[in-house]
Amino acid sequence: MSDMHTEVLILGGGPGGYTAAFRAADLGKQVTLVERYPVIGGVCLNVGCIPSKALLHLAHIIHEAEESENHGISFGKPKIDLDKIRSWKESVSKSLNVGLAGLAKQRNITIVQGVGSFESANSMLVEGEKGRQSITFDSAIIAAGSQASQIPVFPNDDPRLWDSTDALNLTEIPKKLLIVGGGIIGLEMATVYHALGSEISVVEFMDQIIPGCDADLVRPLQKRIKKQYKNIWLGTKVDSIKALKSGLKVGFSGDKAPEPETFDAILVAVGRRPNGLKVGAEKAGVEVNEMGFIEVNEQQKTNIDHIYAIGDIVGNPMLAHKAAHEGKVAAEVIAGEKSAFDAMTIPAVAYTDPEITWMGLTEIEAKKQGIEYDKGVFPWAASGRSLSLGRNEGLTKIICEKETGRVLGAGMVGPNAGELIAEAVLALEMGADAEDIGLTIHPHPSLSETFAFASEVVTGSITDLFIKKR
Ligand code: NAD
Repeated sequence: MSDMHTEVLILGGGPGGYTAAFRAADLGKQVTLVERYPVIGGVCLNVGCIPSKALLHLAHIIHEAEESENHGISFGKPKIDLDKIRSWKESVSKSLNVGLAGLAKQRNITIVQGVGSFESANSMLVEGEKGRQSITFDSAIIAAGSQASQIPVFPNDDPRLWDSTDALNLTEIPKKLLIVGGGIIGLEMATVYHALGSEISVVEFMDQIIPGCDADLVRPLQKRIKKQYKNIWLGTKVDSIKALKSGLKVGFSGDKAPEPETFDAILVAVGRRPNGLKVGAEKAGVEVNEMGFIEVNEQQKTNIDHIYAIGDIVGNPMLAHKAAHEGKVAAEVIAGEKSAFDAMTIPAVAYTDPEITWMGLTEIEAKKQGIEYDKGVFPWAASGRSLSLGRNEGLTKIICEKETGRVLGAGMVGPNAGELIAEAVLALEMGADAEDIGLTIHPHPSLSETFAFASEVVTGSITDLFIKKR
């Protein structure tokens, strides 16, 4: 067992961990990054955000080609070469893996491959293919992420019962695919497999898909997939899954529960669990709650002064962009800077078709908290850009403080909506009001101008709609 010492040890090489590592190195720290896999990038880059976006791009092409038939161009039925799709998807991740490895090398970051676990508040044991190694450190950042939640009573060893990683592996296109969980992962993978030819059923135990998102933003997606998918069962729970030779037989419960049905494969996407209970935190004295989350302050510090935690392991939302920002804060605090995580919002995007995105205050929350607000909604049926894409179901919504017009929240649904939310986040962070946004010249014709139009609905200066004076 060889020993080494490092100034900053980072456990986990996902977007949180590598961002923290790069920032700490740039601020003059000597950094060691411990990662169990041979590549850095974590779930996001290898088995999450990036490969799913590559597959969603192909799904998008298939749907666009199908729908262009209505506009005078026919392509015929697509020929699907699963091996080629898989290797292209892997090449996308690989080029980012190589890029990150290069960025780590340029910064003289030591990467140690193996599974790390604290031995004490100042040392970590790393067990890898090349043996065991003990690394002592001055500061540590825990960025060990999360893993897909399983439902213990399900036959989790059956290869036909998938988590998101299995779904991204594209081993087959099942004839009948059940998606358990109508959240972001479930609906993104439903989009992919539907395009590839599976018959999709979705079961969600809340009475709305993507619960937590305002209903008006979800409605256009719900309407579209209702036509595409075989079943969308809301307010329904999967009680049992029996592994039969002929398929997986599923029993449902709930007021509107269907009769038991057999599927060729099932994707379970019912959320993710933090890995806090798997890093030997107790040996370092770091407190972890029973769910596996590690509590931190706004400087990302745990209860142990020189140990920090970031990303999925510190709480929801489990999103790469949150982890990366927290990683920067932790690295900067370690380097002696006065940093804190004080973001006003963390935007969410579902890369479904149409895409759904939102940030800041939702109407659900505003009503719950009794916050008075003005709302501006611009329907994309009045957007030349949207219509020229052959789509009219989208909308852009802005929520402003009643008294001042200050932006409190926003959301969009429609093709490419995910690319539009950043402007709303900037508006919120800069304290902009509806008038500021309306007076900002947006290019025409663009989807981005729908945000200005929604703001003009709030100020009453909209000309692209006619709204009768009250
Ligand atoms: P989620 O929490 O977003 O959705 C899970 C859904 O499953 C919920 O709607 C829940 O009500 C439902 N559910 C739970 N138990 C159920 C049961 N027994 N039967 C039926 N429905 C059940 O979780 P997810 O979709 O697995 O995603 C996990 C995490 O990854 C989230 O934090 C998500 O934001 C993140 N993620 C983000 C993106 C993105 O930003 N585009 C993409 C993928 C994942």
